[in-house]
Amino acid sequence: MGKRLVVIGGVAGGASAAAKAKRENPELEVVVYEKSGWVSYGACGLPYVLSGEIPQLEKLVARTPEAFWKQGVRVHTHHEVLEVDYGRRVLTVRDHAEGRTFQDRFDHLVIATGARPALPPLPGGEQEGVYTLRNMEDGQRLLRALEGARRAAILGAGYIGLEVAEAFRRRGLEVTLLELKDRPLPHWDPEVGGLLRQELERHGVEVWTGVRVEALRGLGRVEAVETSEGVVPADLVLLATGIRPNVELAQTMGVALGPTGAIATDERMRTNLEGVYAAGDVAESFHQVLKRPFWLPLGDVANKHGRTAGSVIAGKDARFQGVVGTAIFKAFDLAVATTGLSLEAARKEGLAAQKVFIQARDGAHYYPGSRPLWVELVYEEGTGRLLGGAVVAYGQGALRIDTLAALLHRGSTLEDLLGLDLAYAPPFSPVWDPLLIAAQQAH
Ligand code: FAD
Ligand code: NAD
Repeated sequence: MGKRLVVIGGVAGGASAAAKAKRENPELEVVVYEKSGWVSYGACGLPYVLSGEIPQLEKLVARTPEAFWKQGVRVHTHHEVLEVDYGRRVLTVRDHAEGRTFQDRFDHLVIATGARPALPPLPGGEQEGVYTLRNMEDGQRLLRALEGARRAAILGAGYIGLEVAEAFRRRGLEVTLLELKDRPLPHWDPEVGGLLRQELERHGVEVWTGVRVEALRGLGRVEAVETSEGVVPADLVLLATGIRPNVELAQTMGVALGPTGAIATDERMRTNLEGVYAAGDVAESFHQVLKRPFWLPLGDVANKHGRTAGSVIAGKDARFQGVVGTAIFKAFDLAVATTGLSLEAARKEGLAAQKVFIQARDGAHYYPGSRPLWVELVYEEGTGRLLGGAVVAYGQGALRIDTLAALLHRGSTLEDLLGLDLAYAPPFSPVWDPLLIAAQQAH
């Protein structure tokens, strides 16, 4: 009899692990238990379904349960794993559709239970009209809510808050963005937050920063947000105040967490328990700039974790190369990409860090339609080692971040960047690429 792999959670990390393991070793029995009604979808597309740019939620699905079954992967939706007895290699599973609880066994286990919204304690937060956005069910609820809504308040100007502010404006809502810290995208340096603020305000979003949300007003249905700076009327409130990993099930079975509070893994996505792996937002990665474990809960990382775990379980020698912290998103016309450490983060690490922040263009100055583009480079004084950076652009020009990300993986310096042969033609770049202009200034 083939060995039995059970995967808990069927979105990015879990679906990748299951599909890869089965493909590499068809002898494996592969079973996926997913608590919700959906598997293998791109949550990253949810803001664009809300905006109406993508017509249906179903478009976000990469593989249906039926497609998995055809491949021989037994996917069970509405099945929640309640408990794992690691010693006996037995799981207790609740089938919510049938209302029954049963036991199953495993030889290998992948924990891909993801993350959930981290909500601030908020009087009035349990009322109707208050939402989070994490999964397809949340997307369905918000889509319905958008039909009658006129005024939205979004708590948190992080990734979700910024993407959804655009979506709500496209749907014709009045939008107020309420951020606890002093700028949008507060985890990055202030120049980028300043550009974002301008772009949001240009598109009619009210941006309140440095604001404490005290309560949600209403008589069962939300009517307004009470803050330290005044009252914001709202018939729809989105809580986008960050996330935390779903580690509780893993913890109770004896899986060790790392310093970030997510599951500690090695480069093969193994946990401290033999035969038990973790993948996706529930797991840590190794940060190649910081040289220590780091929590980077992103979709591309989750897919790579899952693929690595699946390959290793199938008997291949796969390794996950770690992360440098690269991310990209857009708010209206402005694309913001970051990688590595901001200046603030680098200095908090005790590094002698410096930065340059320059404005260039995404094409030759004489080329019709070329637009401004900004580059930030963070580097170590003395050695010139690159530590991080940002590229902000109107469109695809922000993908220049990938050059910087590749350099960070290699521990490269400003000198290395200056020596690169980068692409040039007037529609795409000035003759000196903006990354090179920034590196020259820093050098
Ligand atoms: P999850 O997606 O959280 O899936 C975990 C699954 O496990 C859940 O479906 C849950 O029901 C299930 N589960 C949990 N416990 C149990 C249990 N006990 N039994 C059975 N099932 C269980 N990332 C990017 O890189 N780029 C983007 O542009 C981007 N945009 C995003 C936009 C939005 C609105 C959101 C919400 C996220 C976005 N992300 C983006 C992040 C990305 O979606 C996540 O990193 C990714 O979904 C993580 O996948 P995962 O499988 O680890 O976890
Ligand atoms: P986030 O951590 O990006 O942002 C949360 C924001 O809420 C922060 O700016 C924080 O200061 C603020 N905040 C916290 N408590 C607050 C309070 N009480 N009142 C007002 N503001 C408060 O988290 P998110 O936006 O919820 O997104 C969750 C995750 O989804 C991200 O960590 C990311 O992994 C993923 N995501 C990624 C992308 C992308 O890569 N394009 C897009 C969307 C989501």
